[in-house]
Amino acid sequence: MRIGILKGNGIGPEITAATQQVLTATGRLFEWVDIPIAGEAIALHGHPLPQETVEALKAVRVALKGPLIVDKLQGRLTCVHRDGTEHTYPSLNNAIRRELALFVNPRPILGMGALSGRHASLDMVIMREITEDVYIGWEHQIGDIAAEAIKLTTRVAAERVARFSFEFARKNGRKLVTCVHKANVLNYTDGLFLRCCRDVAKEFPDIAFDDCMIDAACYHVVKNPTRFDVVCTSNQYGDIFSDLGAGLIGSLGLAPGANIGPDAAVFEASHGAAPDIAGQGIANPIALILSGALLLRHVGLAADALRIERAVRAIVLAGHVLTPDLGGNATTQHVTNAICAELKSSS
Ligand code: NAD
Repeated sequence: MRIGILKGNGIGPEITAATQQVLTATGRLFEWVDIPIAGEAIALHGHPLPQETVEALKAVRVALKGPLIVDKLQGRLTCVHRDGTEHTYPSLNNAIRRELALFVNPRPILGMGALSGRHASLDMVIMREITEDVYIGWEHQIGDIAAEAIKLTTRVAAERVARFSFEFARKNGRKLVTCVHKANVLNYTDGLFLRCCRDVAKEFPDIAFDDCMIDAACYHVVKNPTRFDVVCTSNQYGDIFSDLGAGLIGSLGLAPGANIGPDAAVFEASHGAAPDIAGQGIANPIALILSGALLLRHVGLAADALRIERAVRAIVLAGHVLTPDLGGNATTQHVTNAICAELKSSS
């Protein structure tokens, strides 16, 4: 089986290597296809996301991606397609998602025993729409006195993520889908998102549905960890709400993710490139390792995915081999080796 590897920046190379080691420890044979991105792609093709990279990702169909450093004020980039058309995106991550037509970013948030404190029972999956909202990148400056951005919601995209959320709930024995929005203020954009979720909910009478405003959702998830099950939300709220969830369970280093489309899927941790700890060998590899498990499940290797998830859980709950973000003093390599050993002993 071929898996694309986008090493990324910062801690990216360290945690992608760790994840490759764990996936290999399942005993499955994988062919790793290194695909250049960012600096590597600029060196080879003169662009951070050249069409060669987009085509390579479409060819492998599944890839594991390390995080990318995005300039805070000048992250915009333009991709020129083979037919000469130009497509401008607000950031490299956004460009990858949209060039590959990836439309949903599932981010599971699962409590990890004592490490997650009173959020040990937190078990929710955030389904974040990733093709539109304010992250569409349609913004401009008005001289130096103002700037404005457009927030886009379409029926097609809202219904697609809603349907994905309900289908996921049905397949995975989950009981409740909650639309998270701010339709009391954004009557038209978030209003349409909410109405689309309500429409799709009618097709799934076996799954309960409700909705919650984003500000109240932040409050409820802190106060009552079992309030949410599957959360269906738009791009920006999902981005922020999932980091809150990661903080509640103990670390961004525990929160995996995926970007799924009809023809390709890219699996990456919820966190960023963590430049503050890059190169020190102390990054927590677990979020990306769990993203690797999501990849295996996506390609039909559910038993291997479950073995990895169980091995990770066993190591985290034992609490002897933890990286500094979880209060330990183990290195990325120690944690990776411990997970591989656990995986092999359980097979
Ligand atoms: P971040 O998620 O990289 O880091 C936030 C904090 O969490 C830091 O203190 C970091 O050390 C810690 N952290 C994150 N992942 C960790 C891990 N695996 N192990 C241990 N600690 C971890 O967010 P940031 O600092 O705001 O962003 C850094 C860069 O990453 C920026 O350029 C940002 O644009 C980029 N970013 C990329 C992605 C992506 O590629 N998908 C996502 C978010 C941010």
